[in-house]
Amino acid sequence: MQKHNKNSSVLGILPPHILIALAQNGNEHQRRTALQTLSHDQSIRTSRMAHAMLTYRNVPGHQTLASDGKLCRTVHDAHCSDHLPGDIVRQEGQHPSHDHGTNEAYDCLGWVHAFYLQAYMRNSIDNEGLPLNATVHYGTGYSNAFWNGERMLCGDGDYDLFNRFTCCLDVIGHELTHGIIECEARLAYLGQSGALNEHVADVFGCLIKQYAHHQSAEQADWLIGQGIFTERIHGEALRSMKKPGSAYDDRLLGRDPQPSTMDCYHHTMEDNGGVHINSGIPNHAFYLAATYIGGYAWERAGRIWYEALTDQRLSATTNFHMFAQHTLKHAQHLYGQESREHQAIRQAWEQVGIVRQERIFAGSSLY
Ligand SMILES: [Zn+2]
Repeated sequence: MQKHNKNSSVLGILPPHILIALAQNGNEHQRRTALQTLSHDQSIRTSRMAHAMLTYRNVPGHQTLASDGKLCRTVHDAHCSDHLPGDIVRQEGQHPSHDHGTNEAYDCLGWVHAFYLQAYMRNSIDNEGLPLNATVHYGTGYSNAFWNGERMLCGDGDYDLFNRFTCCLDVIGHELTHGIIECEARLAYLGQSGALNEHVADVFGCLIKQYAHHQSAEQADWLIGQGIFTERIHGEALRSMKKPGSAYDDRLLGRDPQPSTMDCYHHTMEDNGGVHINSGIPNHAFYLAATYIGGYAWERAGRIWYEALTDQRLSATTNFHMFAQHTLKHAQHLYGQESREHQAIRQAWEQVGIVRQERIFAGSSLY
C-alpha cells in the first residue's frame, strides 16, 4: 500500500462551479458566503497538499492504530471557527450529544467503517485501523465538507441555501473514500484521472448509503448529496448517477452540467479539467452496470470497482478507457468471461461511449 501520494488535491463535496454560480448570481449574503467558502477551500487545498507529502504514520495522533478492525471515532467541535481540531465532543462509545451535527458525524463515520470492513474486509481508510476523526461546525457559514488528509471537516452550510453537511451519509462517504483513494491509487486530480478520482468517491459514497439503508440497485435513488440543498434551491441533490445532468436546475446555481456519455464530454480548463463534471460519464456506467447485474450493488459491481481501485495499478495518467478495461479484467477474473457481471459491465461502458462496441453478445441483450 502507498503511504503517501503527491497528487492529492481534492476540492470537497461541493464543486467549484456551484460556488462560482452563486458568487455571480446570488444576493449580497450569498455572494459573500460563496466567496468565503471558495477562498477557504483554496487554503485547505494548499495545506492538504503539504500534508499529502507526509506518511500517515508520521502524522501526530495517528500512532494509535486499531489493528483488529475496531472502530475508533472522535468528533470535535470547531464552534464556527477554523481552529483545528476543536474541542472533543464525542468519543467512541460515548452517549449521543444534544448536537445533531455531532451525532450525525459520529454515525456517518461508523457507517463508513462498517461498510468497508464488512463488504471488503478493509480496516478503515488506510486498511490499518486508522482512527476516524471529524470536526463539525467548521468555519462560519462554510458550505462544504472535506477530508483534509487527517480528518473530516464539516461546515454548517450558509443557513440559506445549504443545510449542514453532516446530514448526508453519502457526502461523508464520498469524502472518506478520497482518503482511501489517496492510499491506494495515484489518480492525478486533473482531467480524466481526476474525474475518475471523483467517480470512485461518488460510487462508494452512494454504496455506503445503499448499504446503510439495505437498498438494492433497483431501490436506490443513486443521488449524491440528497438533502444538502434547502427548499430555496430547485434541485434534489448535487449529482445523479442514474441521470447525470438532472440533479438540479436552479435560478442561482444554474443547471447540473454533468454529461452521461462521451458525446457530451466537457473540454474545459475549469474545475481541474471538469473533474466534478465529466465524472458523470463513468458514474452513469456504474449505475447501468449495477442495475444490469441487480441485487445489492456493493456485492458485485462494487466488489469489482474495489478490486480495480486497490490493486495498485491505477496511475496518475489512467484515463476512462484504461479504467474501464481494468474493471473488465477484474470482472473476468472474479466472475468469468461469460458471466453476467462481465457482460453487464462491458455493456455499460459501451453504452456511455467509453468502450467501443466490438462484438455482439450471444443470447439476449441485457438492456
Ligand atoms: Zn470529491
